[in-house]
Amino acid sequence: MNIHNILTAPFIQEMCEATDQLWQYGWAERNGGNISYRLPADEVQYYLNLDQKFPMIDLSFTIPELAGEFFLVTGSGKYFKNVKHNPADCLALIRITKLGDQYELIWGLENGDVPTSELASHLKCHAVRLKQDANHRVILHTHASAISAMTFIHELTDQAFTKTLWQMITECLVVFPDGVTVLPWMVAGTNELGEASAKKMKDCRIVVWPHHGIMSAGQSMDDAFGLIETAEKAAEIYLKISSTNQPVGQTITDQQLWALADAFQVTPRSGILEARESDD
Ligand code: 13P
Ligand code: ZN
Repeated sequence: MNIHNILTAPFIQEMCEATDQLWQYGWAERNGGNISYRLPADEVQYYLNLDQKFPMIDLSFTIPELAGEFFLVTGSGKYFKNVKHNPADCLALIRITKLGDQYELIWGLENGDVPTSELASHLKCHAVRLKQDANHRVILHTHASAISAMTFIHELTDQAFTKTLWQMITECLVVFPDGVTVLPWMVAGTNELGEASAKKMKDCRIVVWPHHGIMSAGQSMDDAFGLIETAEKAAEIYLKISSTNQPVGQTITDQQLWALADAFQVTPRSGILEARESDD
């Protein structure tokens, strides 16, 4: 079998570009944030000989739903600004074992490190999203600045947070009609945070981790990234308005949001907008 150089793989390039972009945005200080990218077996086989034994590492939870699935993940403690310079050191390609209680390290982490400390959140969210959408591929967590800042001054409910973001830029309702969900503050890197995030991911692809960051799910890197960019832009506008100390003079009304939903054929998550006024 002709094995190709994995460093030329589009999925490695995409991971390098995404981590670099997160760093450029200022959301990936030090090792802040993590990404996992589900890869089809044939894509992996094009670059790696899978007919051999790989190191097996225990997971601190079991996830049999993902048995046999391959994920390209960022390594724990890896600086996002460095990933593009040394992907083989900063990234790991793993395969979940049959019982879902271990993973095999197929490639990467050349210097003996471990995958992201948020692996529980990533894998649990992948499992939930895959049940909803067979084309689901990416989970992205980053320390988006404006969203994190907003969690200090805004009510932390799914309803209130979603409505405010939808009101900030016209595109928000169209980009994330399922809104955003907000967890209570939780300790980073725990199975509990993973469990709580996955529960929220069932019907919504954006989860806000107060005073920490945000996590999104997508069918592609652009999809997951675009959700966060849009929510973050809305949060920036919210902060700009808040810092003027002026009373809010006008906003996009609920009835206008309904009209927007009709025009773009999206269904706003229920329980966020006031009832639609009838036309007659
Ligand atoms: P890792 O370096 O382990 O991925 O942790 C970074 C982070 O953002 C934790 O929430
Ligand atoms: Zn984090």
